[in-house]
Amino acid sequence: STPFLSVRDLTVDFHTEDGVVHAVNGLSFDVEKGTTLGIVGESGSGKSVTNLTVLGLHNPETTKISGEILLDGQQLIGAPRSTMEKLRGNKVAMIFQDPLTALSPYHTIGRQIGEVYRKHTGASREKARQRAIEMLTRVGIPQPKLRVDDYPHQFSGGMRQRAMIAMALVCDPDLLIADEPTTALDVTVQAQILDLLKDLQDQTGTSIILITHDLGVVANTAHNVLVMYAGRAVERGTVREVLHEPRHPYTWGLLASMPSLGSSVDVPLQPVRGTPPSLINIPAGCPFHPRCDYMQLAGPEICRTERPELSPHRGHGDACYLTLAQKREIHK
Ligand code: SF4
Ligand code: MG
Repeated sequence: STPFLSVRDLTVDFHTEDGVVHAVNGLSFDVEKGTTLGIVGESGSGKSVTNLTVLGLHNPETTKISGEILLDGQQLIGAPRSTMEKLRGNKVAMIFQDPLTALSPYHTIGRQIGEVYRKHTGASREKARQRAIEMLTRVGIPQPKLRVDDYPHQFSGGMRQRAMIAMALVCDPDLLIADEPTTALDVTVQAQILDLLKDLQDQTGTSIILITHDLGVVANTAHNVLVMYAGRAVERGTVREVLHEPRHPYTWGLLASMPSLGSSVDVPLQPVRGTPPSLINIPAGCPFHPRCDYMQLAGPEICRTERPELSPHRGHGDACYLTLAQKREIHK
């Protein structure tokens, strides 16, 4: 089947006072219909930028974008603003880490959900209100007919996140982008929100991109995983492949720093030392080499000088010069 979203060789550069920020560097991935792709990495890995690009939310004056973003066959790079505005909310919707930045404190929850619906469908106020109640019901808000007239501050953090999901889904988008949707929530509520996303996906067939720094979050929610580092994919595969047979030293480090995964993954390794590189000055060779403990084994010369490509082209792949046998030996 053709993927619903297909990103090819995406590059995003920002021009800043300090220099050019190479936020995304030749990134390719697919999202199949009705599946969830988890995009994982530390902050500054390019995961959020990639998705803002899919949504067309960059300032064209300061951003240089190249490559392809095909959404249901439609090329989004270079698409006119009006096209992107029509797509946003309708075909692609986004939920953010902090609902308070996306919800206005001055309008009721119901009004805000209803306005999104009206904007894309031209429905009457009354109809939009009914739709808001229906959506609040669907995301599990108790007494939706009463709560529809509440203001965001009258909702708990978990309920606000549910309201934001309701707002994102009000026009039945085909793709939902969720950027760290549970980071601000406590563990129990976090699990409830992730379950809700899974249930909604089962009901509607929406594709989801779940952006997170926490591999534990993708473990139970995503079908496929893309691990990003310095604006590139360093590992890609199914959740099972990436969590149980991780191949890239960066993925090993991420797994080792995820206590939430507990004993479900057998990781004898150390969390990643050091900090992510500046995207203005990305190290030559393998961008991970200054933090990597396996350079000697792979061949320090090549690690320092040549960019490893993601291979193989399809299926479980990673970008590292260690041989498969070495990777298996290290991560037994
Ligand atoms: Fe480490 Fe070299 Fe593999 Fe990069 S290519 S992750 S530096 S071993
Ligand atoms: Mg982010």
